[in-house]
Amino acid sequence: RFGLKKQPVSAFIALGANLGDAPATLRWALGAIAALTGTRLVRSSSLYRSAPIDSSGPDYINAVAEVATTLHAPALLAALQQIELAAGRERPYRNAPRTLDLDILLYGDASIHSPHLQVPHPRMGERAFVLVPLAEIAPVRVSAAQLAAVQGQAITRLG
Ligand code: ADP
Ligand code: MG
Repeated sequence: RFGLKKQPVSAFIALGANLGDAPATLRWALGAIAALTGTRLVRSSSLYRSAPIDSSGPDYINAVAEVATTLHAPALLAALQQIELAAGRERPYRNAPRTLDLDILLYGDASIHSPHLQVPHPRMGERAFVLVPLAEIAPVRVSAAQLAAVQGQAITRLG
């Protein structure tokens, strides 16, 4: 529908869930991402637990995955939103608790500023639940200063 790029692009996706069996949902979502057209799962972080920020409800389970994909960024976003819906996501209000949230953090070295898609993700630098799992799988993408700035936010790596 959107066409495919010729060369795969390295993209980083943040996964989060705080309703239902969140660890199971994240593992299922990683499989669904790996099964997307033109997309290969390169690596994924451990699962982490974090307290809600600007949100409510139970603790979140978070992870970050790297994919190599020939999907253009808008097509990747659309595909991720389909996976969110398949996981039963509803959007009753802004920052509501969610069964699954999939955000594009980075898409190659692209800067995208459209109404529906901003990349790099504008809030990624403020969130330990993004930076800590991202640093686990792609340390060169996260600076020591960025990690220091979020060290007050509690986040626990699950076994
Ligand atoms: P949030 O992730 O901010 O908690 P939602 O998941 O409900 O909230 O997303 C709201 C909107 O954010 C989506 O409809 C999408 O169009 C937009 N959006 C903008 N940039 C991105 C991005 N990099 N990744 C995912 N969604 C994005
Ligand atoms: Mg989102």
